Amino acid sequence: MFRLLIWAALIAAGVWFWRKYKASLQTTKRPADPGAQPMVRCAHCGVHLPRDRALSRHQEWFCSQEHLQQGPKAPR
Ligand SMILES: [Zn+2]
Repeated sequence: MFRLLIWAALIAAGVWFWRKYKASLQTTKRPADPGAQPMVRCAHCGVHLPRDRALSRHQEWFCSQEHLQQGPKAPR
């Protein structure tokens, strides 16, 4: 009878440790979202947007055709 209780306790402890281990894996391991688009900054107005929606010219990014035509805003 005691043997059965010890086994039950061992299994419960094992399950508890396993859950804790899995939870720690999920919270600590954060891959850098391979599906997420890298964000770029509009050189004119400074808004951030996904790169697939941005327009590029001369290695600079713009949020819209309008800003692309107006060009990068001069710093200060
Ligand atoms: Zn812009």
